[in-house]
Amino acid sequence: MAVRVDPTLVAELEEFGAGDMKACFNCGNCTAVCPLSEGDTAFPRRMIRYAQIGQRDQLASHLEPWLCYYCGDCSTTCPREAEPGETMMSMRRWLTAKYDFTGISRLFYRSWKWEVYSIILVAILTGIAFLAVGFSVGSIDQYGGPDAFLPSSGVHIFDWVLASVLLALLLTNCARMWYFTTLKGRSARPGLGSYLRNVHLLPLHFFTQMRFAKCSARRPWVIHLILMLSYTTMLVLIMGFLPQMWAGPEIDWRVHVFGYLATIGLLFTTVFAVRGRTKKLEPHYQFSHESDWMFLILLFVVAFTGILQHILHRSGLDVAANITYVVHMMGVVPMLALEVPFSKWAHLFYRPLAVYLADVQTDAAEVRQRAPSPTPGEAAAG
Ligand code: SF4
Ligand code: SF4
Repeated sequence: MAVRVDPTLVAELEEFGAGDMKACFNCGNCTAVCPLSEGDTAFPRRMIRYAQIGQRDQLASHLEPWLCYYCGDCSTTCPREAEPGETMMSMRRWLTAKYDFTGISRLFYRSWKWEVYSIILVAILTGIAFLAVGFSVGSIDQYGGPDAFLPSSGVHIFDWVLASVLLALLLTNCARMWYFTTLKGRSARPGLGSYLRNVHLLPLHFFTQMRFAKCSARRPWVIHLILMLSYTTMLVLIMGFLPQMWAGPEIDWRVHVFGYLATIGLLFTTVFAVRGRTKKLEPHYQFSHESDWMFLILLFVVAFTGILQHILHRSGLDVAANITYVVHMMGVVPMLALEVPFSKWAHLFYRPLAVYLADVQTDAAEVRQRAPSPTPGEAAAG
């Protein structure tokens, strides 16, 4: 791979929230203490070095920033207080922007104003659209039935259209990640067998985030796991069981019990993270990028209005339930349309993909090592 040196890289990463990379003298202490840097990996030191010497392409071609789960051990032991953990976090933001072909991610991470204004704009448009549809097809004092303000079948179709667009965006960006980290500029590329042998790692790491459990402190992993399982449960309920969730006012315990558990999980993890970031309780809460707050605020608004709307509907207060549902969607739509593909939620997809691709690359290297060397005659003919 041709090496292009770019002296502006450090300044650019600082815009994404990097620590003081100029303070780093490459002692390697951070890599030595990192519980996740093993085998051929040498992060965070190697990644910081690439940034210091302006090797933009090398940085973009590595999966290592995604193999860090931000336990913070490296930051607390760095003799120069260079904050390597936060620098790895900033590299994940930078890479998210690199994979995103629309440029929206780059805009959001470098200017919180763009992110806030976009969220507000999408929320207002969503509110106007839902109110316009509601008043044209139904009555505000009807939650269900033929005159429902927002028929669940229509909302269900809207959810599927939104999910399809998101999936297309995410898959495109994941394909770009794959290209940058596994294909671009590589003479030896993994064979199909390496991809197939490791394919189980994708769902495994997506649902369990199990690499995180190797960090010395288990609590961040447990919190992350609760958030992930709650989010996935809610997604399955909304995409697969919205009419059952919507029906009532009687409670359908077969589906609602999962909704309650997921909501409790989302609220608990959000409050825990807000408290941690406010009080700076753990190393990974010491620095908060604006996108971290955006993520938490939207998550809280969505979970809170979801519960409120559910209670209002079960109490027979249909006008209040309908209005609260519109407010709920004013949080849901910007969270899904802007945060999932372009901001912090995207990490949920890139991280398991990175773990998978790292193992595919290792598998492919082992296959190449095991392959018999060409005989002198074959080598000469080749
Ligand atoms: S970030 Fe700190 S611990 Fe890591 S190599 Fe630089 S100076 Fe050493
Ligand atoms: S934050 Fe933790 S996992 Fe990430 S590089 Fe530092 S020590 Fe390793």
